[in-house]
Amino acid sequence: MSLSIIESCVNCYACEPLCPSDAIFKGEEIFLIDAKKCTECDGDFADPQCASICPIEGAILDAAGEAINAPGSLTGIPPLKLAEAMAEIQAR
Ligand code: SF4
Ligand code: SF4
Repeated sequence: MSLSIIESCVNCYACEPLCPSDAIFKGEEIFLIDAKKCTECDGDFADPQCASICPIEGAILDAAGEAINAPGSLTGIPPLKLAEAMAEIQAR
């Protein structure tokens, strides 16, 4: 039972001090979660604290590999709309 951080982490340091289990650490490229220490905040908080503070959609995955902050969940921009806007900008 552990969350994981993927390569889209921007090393903002926000999550590390919030972890009640001292499970988050700075890896060579990005922050990482020690699967042996992560409790998913069970018993400490109602929500995983790392995912609650993380500003990057999709950077933290649940135990099933699903993004906790899914695309559009933080920005409020529907993923399709964002993809269209990005394509338009790149075409300029
Ligand atoms: S889910 Fe909770 S225990 Fe696990 S890494 Fe995130 S803050 Fe730490
Ligand atoms: S809060 Fe998110 S982006 Fe910031 S260090 Fe943690 S996982 Fe990386």
